Amino acid sequence: MLKVGLTGGIGSGKTTVAKVFETLGVPVYYADDMAKRLMQEDATLRQKIMNAFGKESYTIDGQLNRVYLSSVAFNHSKKIEQLNAIVHPVVIDHAAKWMLQQTSSYVIKEAALIFESGSQTRLDYVIGVYAPETLRIQRVTQRDKIEKEKALARINKQMEEEVKMKLCNNIIRNDDQTPLISQILNIHNQLLAKFSDNKETLK
Ligand code: ATP
Repeated sequence: MLKVGLTGGIGSGKTTVAKVFETLGVPVYYADDMAKRLMQEDATLRQKIMNAFGKESYTIDGQLNRVYLSSVAFNHSKKIEQLNAIVHPVVIDHAAKWMLQQTSSYVIKEAALIFESGSQTRLDYVIGVYAPETLRIQRVTQRDKIEKEKALARINKQMEEEVKMKLCNNIIRNDDQTPLISQILNIHNQLLAKFSDNKETLK
């Protein structure tokens, strides 16, 4: 099975593209959603987070205290690095185990931070989803009901989009100009062919 990463900046449309791949029967692991779930449910991870950021990281009724953690982490780049260093390895391992349980020709791991977390070393192929910054700002302000400045601040905290796209094996342009579905179908067919080639080579 091929392990495929799907990445892109905030509002590029990773999740939207991933849902289309799902309709083609491709299993998708949503790493950012899973990270939140593991931070809530994984006892070892909870303890590590509390050790690093204090008991306030969880509310009295045991819920992840997102407001507190965001205020600590997002105001100090070192703290966000520290949080990522705790969470990413757990998600990477969890995704690897999930992949082993799938039986399709290829699987997709959708994640905002693939290169930043080093998880590309455990993937065979990475697809980038690209959209121009103005469009990403427009999408994020509409989706999250936030001000333009806040959306821009989130975007600016991430790796530069052009740099990220250069690291990808293939790029899907989700720019409201280029037809999206045909790009996805093209890559789907390429990946199925790549899987068949690999199988032949291994015979
Ligand atoms: P994030 O990293 O913030 O989770 P994302 O890259 O996963 O973002 P999406 O959530 O897929 O991006 O898209 C952002 C918003 O833009 C969503 O509201 C989505 O419905 C909308 N959107 C994305 N692509 C398209 C498109 N091709 N046509 C219409 N709306 C789109």
